[in-house]
Amino acid sequence: MKQVVNVLWTGGLDSTCRICELSLLDIVVQPYYLNDPQRDSVKYELKAIKTITDMIRKKPNTKCELRDVIVHNVNDLAPDPIIRTAWKVLHEKYKIGTQYDWLARFTKQNNLVVEMSLEHSPRGKATRTLTGEGELMIDKEMGEQIADFMINPAKSSPELITIYEHLRFPSTLWEMTKTDEVEEMKSNGMEDVMKKTWFCYTPVFGMPCGHCNPCRDALNEDMAWRVPKLGRVLGFCQHYTFHAARHIVRRIQKKY
Ligand SMILES: [Zn+2]
Repeated sequence: MKQVVNVLWTGGLDSTCRICELSLLDIVVQPYYLNDPQRDSVKYELKAIKTITDMIRKKPNTKCELRDVIVHNVNDLAPDPIIRTAWKVLHEKYKIGTQYDWLARFTKQNNLVVEMSLEHSPRGKATRTLTGEGELMIDKEMGEQIADFMINPAKSSPELITIYEHLRFPSTLWEMTKTDEVEEMKSNGMEDVMKKTWFCYTPVFGMPCGHCNPCRDALNEDMAWRVPKLGRVLGFCQHYTFHAARHIVRRIQKKY
């Protein structure tokens, strides 16, 4: 029976780069997507995943069986006070996002071990949490070709274990910047796939806005090609219309 690798797939560059790496192996790849209805970008991310799945399946060098993405809704996850308490401790220290609360509940409640694609980012919140609260080691069960990191429970804080014990981190990506990911995808004949990845949180008319954090990261990381000029202009209008409206509302509120 072929090895099954579960991957959290957002449709963004990091997790798509990992899906592309895994597509070259003779394994089964099962992607998961967690639907957070608070995000405006859900439909764009799912559309990117569908498009990229079709593209990878048709690539001549694809060896894996890439299964359809399985979507879970964040709001369907049961509360878990133990996870919530551990998350609060790590959030206070490292400002990790709420997604780590629901990722921990998702993996625990579905009894799943899943890969999360973290790129080289020593100052990133997740990396600082993992290195500040414990140590990573290679997960021997996943084998050499998958080469995933996992937390070392003997050298990790109880909170780190509670939140991260079911997550795995591809060791290849751990050493790669976004620019390295782009180069790897190009050299694997995945440039067309790379261009279909999605990252913007607040798109305008289906285009990246140029103003949300991931868009600004893309512009700062010499990846301006990911943010079309028209999107940037419309995003500018959207961004400043919103701020101007908020300013006016606040002034009216002060008056009354
Ligand atoms: Zn954006």
